[in-house]
Amino acid sequence: MTSRSVDATSAPAADEERFFARVEAIDEIDGQATVVLDVVRSDSGPFSGRRLVDVSREAADYWAKAFSGRLAIDDFLDGFETYIVVLQNSPPDYGWQFERWLTFTARRLAAAGDAVIAPALVGEFIRPEKPSDDDVEDLRSVSPPVLASAAQGALLDRIFDMSAWPSATAAEIAAAFDWRALSQVISIDVGQGSALAMVDSSGHPRVYFDVGAGFGPNKRTVPVGLSFCTCKRPVVVLSHWDTDHLHGARYEPKLLKSQWVVPRQLIGPTHARLANSVLRAGGKVLTFDIERTEVALSPRAWGSRASRATQTLFLERCTGRTKNDSGLSVAVWDRVRERAWLLVGDAGYRYLPSASSLQGLCVLSASHHGAALGVGDSPPAAPAMGYLRLLYSFGFENAFHHPRDVAVQAHENVGWRHAGAWPQGVDVLATTTPNAPQQRNAVAAGWLRRPNLPRHLASCQQLAPLR
Ligand SMILES: [Zn+2]
Ligand SMILES: [Zn+2]
Repeated sequence: MTSRSVDATSAPAADEERFFARVEAIDEIDGQATVVLDVVRSDSGPFSGRRLVDVSREAADYWAKAFSGRLAIDDFLDGFETYIVVLQNSPPDYGWQFERWLTFTARRLAAAGDAVIAPALVGEFIRPEKPSDDDVEDLRSVSPPVLASAAQGALLDRIFDMSAWPSATAAEIAAAFDWRALSQVISIDVGQGSALAMVDSSGHPRVYFDVGAGFGPNKRTVPVGLSFCTCKRPVVVLSHWDTDHLHGARYEPKLLKSQWVVPRQLIGPTHARLANSVLRAGGKVLTFDIERTEVALSPRAWGSRASRATQTLFLERCTGRTKNDSGLSVAVWDRVRERAWLLVGDAGYRYLPSASSLQGLCVLSASHHGAALGVGDSPPAAPAMGYLRLLYSFGFENAFHHPRDVAVQAHENVGWRHAGAWPQGVDVLATTTPNAPQQRNAVAAGWLRRPNLPRHLASCQQLAPLR
């Protein structure tokens, strides 16, 4: 990529639209890269006819009000035209940069077969705030992106990144959680994505670790009628700001009323907009800037929480540098049963500081939907115990070919037995099968044995049947 920058305010050709973009994710398959961009049109809405510096100033003012609970009547973010764009024909060595803002132009294609002249790319433009089953693919030809200037980037950060968001204290984060002890963890079938519900003894989800859903080339993997139980206003912990880990909130808008604990990462326009939707719905956005904190959970409400606590929920920041590797992980330790759960989004296991020191690890969520592990990375070993569950979440025939054989082998090598998978092996549960015949279900794991059907979820009808 060249460092040439483009003046976003110069007049475009008649059928050309201009955009600012940030790279969300890159997945490489068979010599081609699928690139996900988080973009905003730079020639419409609040940008039209105004200087970027003025828009930026207004945004900083808006965020300050929104985070202090003094929401303006006008939704400032709502005026922007934002998209998730999936490029499926990018060369992997294109030089995409996660840290910088980019600019590009796009032109609508009259038909899917419309000629695209190289070096243009083809992008599928998705409006994530409105998932519907019947939307047609919006394909546009995209000019090779170039870097925005550093000055533009700094101004865009104030509008769409987290620089204007306050950090939450450990006490504020702990206060977001209910005191109730957790009895099972459910990997919800969201297609190619991840959503783990931690459920109390009455069957109510109290904590979600991600509320994802498939999108773009994996949208077809999302189950019809995807929804989430929000009956007890569960807290949402976000592993990292990738669409496949948060897109479920667009299917279940009640999740926007929850308190969200989120890692501080580089984000773009549609994710800033999600946070804005949470604030406007009466939820909270708690930005996690510390290394680690813990929350005491108890089977009883009375007495002081700490003295009655039988479980501890740990929230920890992953120590890597990339988006996948620098988010949050969750562990729950049950001191009576001497067992632990470890839940991870897409981070390499080596970036989970406490993974190797957890005693009695009985439930592990397989990182990154079973993608190939980084060089030298290895899952935490399965202890020699009776009840073990390794939970996989991926979509049937997903575009990324998850789970990969090398990842399965890496888990098998350290004691997680796959024999019989998929969707169920000796120590393995998966939300679906990678290839035909298709089976799909939410799957649940407990502490010492296969858990009972959660009472509330059986009647709430916000969750597909469990296996
Ligand atoms: Zn419910
Ligand atoms: Zn993911």
